[in-house]
Amino acid sequence: MSHSITAPPRAWAEINLSALLKNLAFIKQHSNQAVMAVLKAGAYGHGIEAIASALDNQNLAYFGVASVIEARKLTQAQINTPIYLLGPTFPEERPEIVHNRWTPCISSIDEAEHFNQLNSGNTPIVVHITVDTGMGRGGFLPMALPGAISRIQQLPNIQIEGIGSHLPSADEDRDFTLKQFASFEAAVRSNKAKYIHLSNSAGLLDYSNTATNLVRPGLMLYGISPIPKYQHHLSPVMTLKSRVSLVRTLPAGHGISYGRDTILDQDTRVATIGIGYGDGYPRAVSNTNAKVRIRGTLCPLLGRVTMDQIMVDVSKLPDCTPGDEVELFGPNILVSDIAKAANTIPWEVLTGITPRVTRTYTTS
Ligand SMILES: *Cc1c(COP(=O)(O)O)cnc(C)c1O
Repeated sequence: MSHSITAPPRAWAEINLSALLKNLAFIKQHSNQAVMAVLKAGAYGHGIEAIASALDNQNLAYFGVASVIEARKLTQAQINTPIYLLGPTFPEERPEIVHNRWTPCISSIDEAEHFNQLNSGNTPIVVHITVDTGMGRGGFLPMALPGAISRIQQLPNIQIEGIGSHLPSADEDRDFTLKQFASFEAAVRSNKAKYIHLSNSAGLLDYSNTATNLVRPGLMLYGISPIPKYQHHLSPVMTLKSRVSLVRTLPAGHGISYGRDTILDQDTRVATIGIGYGDGYPRAVSNTNAKVRIRGTLCPLLGRVTMDQIMVDVSKLPDCTPGDEVELFGPNILVSDIAKAANTIPWEVLTGITPRVTRTYTTS
């Protein structure tokens, strides 16, 4: 064994690939449909290549990404699962898409004609048609769909493999979402395609339907449910960790952190921890009831989150010492709760974990 002088990271994210596969198994069993695993934004901050490698032999219909840069990373990693681009593409991106046979979704006749013109190969490029049933972000309106499909079917170099739509409020508005399922079912009734898809995590968890045969889970794959009542079926994949760097007892009246919002009302054991908003731990949890977990005990945050460090109250932990591991979120503190304290959503917290946080991968 060689002697290393490389120090461990101050903040790291443990990515549990067994949890990832457990969540996928639940998705397959709960939806009973083909799966497009959504890997955009670096697999929601978990590391796109590692997550793609872990899922590549799972018989998935697609990996869904947001950009050509993400698609390119998967192709360069020699991933075999087909790659789908989840939103409208820029004209400058399309030659690379055609060259690599990634699957774009089409929201306009212009896009379809451009792909048709770019594809000089012998085999048509496979595309999906997007229908806008309420998201307002892309797609043909349902009433325009039949006309669009018959025009696109006349383009010789592209082939329609799927029809999809997207749910804006499956975790917020049941009545609207039910109407959306109905309007999507009506829109695809007379248009047969290999893949018909509508549901994100919330849609596949909370709604059943017979019109679709493919689901597009993102958040739940990473073990977080957008709807709390399903959380117990899932295992959080990422645990954000750091270490205690300093423990002191500070006297009553002493201020903690920038702005001195927190003034200690009694003598308090204060631990300093090596993580901050520069790592993506949200500054917006400053002065909320956010807690961290040390030696199995939840310890309240004190004062504002700084760029590289936070302070917590460890008065309940007389044994707390520098070097102690700290869970910021993970299996014991849901990232959803941190997001709620920060007045945001778990998607944003996960994708906001910055590159200086080392990702480590485990299979236990
Ligand atoms: C991001 C995205 C998803 C995944 O959504 P989750 O809520 O994370 O499951 C599915 N479909 C489309 C089109 C998306 O952009």
